[in-house]
Amino acid sequence: MSATAHKYEAVDYYQLDDLLTDEHKLIRDSARAWLNEHAAPYINEWAQNNECPTHLIPGMGEQGFFGAFLPEKYGCPGLDYIAYGIIMQEIERVDSGLRSMCSVQGSLVMYPIYAYGSEEQKMKYLPKLASGEMMGCFGLTEPDHGSNPSGMTTNFKDMGDHYLLNGAKSWISNSPFADIAVVWAKNEEGRIHGIIVERGMAGFTTPEIHNKWSLRASATGELVFDNVKVPKENLLPNISGLRGPLSCLDSARYGIAWGAMGAAMDCYSTALAYTLERKQFDRPIAGFQLQQKKLAEMVTEITKMQLLTYRLGQLKAAGKATTAQISMAKRNNVHTAITIARDARQMLGGMGITGDYPIMRHSMNLESVLTYEGTHDIHLLITGMDVTGISAFR
Ligand SMILES: Cc1cc2nc3c(=O)[nH]c(=O)nc-3n(C[C@H](O)[C@H](O)[C@H](O)COP(=O)(O)OP(=O)(O)OC[C@H]3O[C@@H](n4cnc5c(N)ncnc54)[C@H](O)[C@@H]3O)c2cc1C
Repeated sequence: MSATAHKYEAVDYYQLDDLLTDEHKLIRDSARAWLNEHAAPYINEWAQNNECPTHLIPGMGEQGFFGAFLPEKYGCPGLDYIAYGIIMQEIERVDSGLRSMCSVQGSLVMYPIYAYGSEEQKMKYLPKLASGEMMGCFGLTEPDHGSNPSGMTTNFKDMGDHYLLNGAKSWISNSPFADIAVVWAKNEEGRIHGIIVERGMAGFTTPEIHNKWSLRASATGELVFDNVKVPKENLLPNISGLRGPLSCLDSARYGIAWGAMGAAMDCYSTALAYTLERKQFDRPIAGFQLQQKKLAEMVTEITKMQLLTYRLGQLKAAGKATTAQISMAKRNNVHTAITIARDARQMLGGMGITGDYPIMRHSMNLESVLTYEGTHDIHLLITGMDVTGISAFR
């Protein structure tokens, strides 16, 4: 059991709870209680064993962890963006891998079906994805096209009564167990479209990627398409071009900005509790200036992250959040979280490297979060492009 699972106290240095509605607080408390009971005590073991806890999926569905911001009409919770962010924060407080599973399901699978799918596709997939009866993955990255997805070579041909899909996607969260994949591929004119590929279609395989030191409680794999016959009704009819996958990434990155804060809060609260208890030179190490500097900087940075995400949530709710604003929050919060994790690790001395505490796991997880959904450097260049009007990366 994680030594901190039951000691956790949320950071609220600037009384941000005052900005939340009673419903937000209820959602947070209920998500936290469920995660404390069902996930926090076991997460170290799952991560050590490189085991993705898929048995949690039905419970996560019941808790409204999948597509929280999508409407009740399709069996979804119908919550606002702040509530969605709070849920991501609470899940990643336990583990970035669990949050990745939920982000992918909600923002990268359910969102494109909701935003760009036909009414039939929405009715067919969304209620099952919301409950967890069906799980999905999102195929954009390819072995030779990561930061530059527009170079993708996965393609489909119109065969009259069906499409023929060929190519491969790599680094796909949830792929080893997903029932469906929202795949971005080029048509014969080179235009990018989204297609829903279902497990069981001949020629479609999902080999797992092994040997990860990060997100070990999350399953990552490939998607391989070898002359896969996809029914025409599986094409998302209402989008074409890179704008489709990029809009999904906006939604997921928003959740990551909140999620990374959860990991940072767990590291901070662990370091605070540890340094208050741990004595060296006959006094608690929390009394030494260098430890206090780290703690003071952590709580300051967490407070800044909270203000950033709360305001971003307001902008998102008003339909005003820009891609560049979301990039800034994702980049800032993940980098801040990993810096906090590294400092917190030092504060626990040798104990900091063990699985008795969550910090090393958070730190290793955040290495993936720093890279996926747009790398740290690419997000910097997006901000640079936004303020100068000149792209430095393409
Ligand atoms: C655990 C995990 C889960 C993932 N899940 C998914 C998923 O579910 N679906 C999905 O589609 N993808 C997923 N990804 C893929 C992820 O989004 C990519 O890894 C990421 O976009 C970077 O691509 P890459 O790894 O090919 O790195 P590259 O694009 O090769 O980049 C390597 C380095 O070069 C830098 N670089 C690249 N271009 C430029 C430039 N123009 N200027 C300056 N620097 C540059 C990058 O910042 C980076 O530091 C996942 C990745 C991981 C690690």
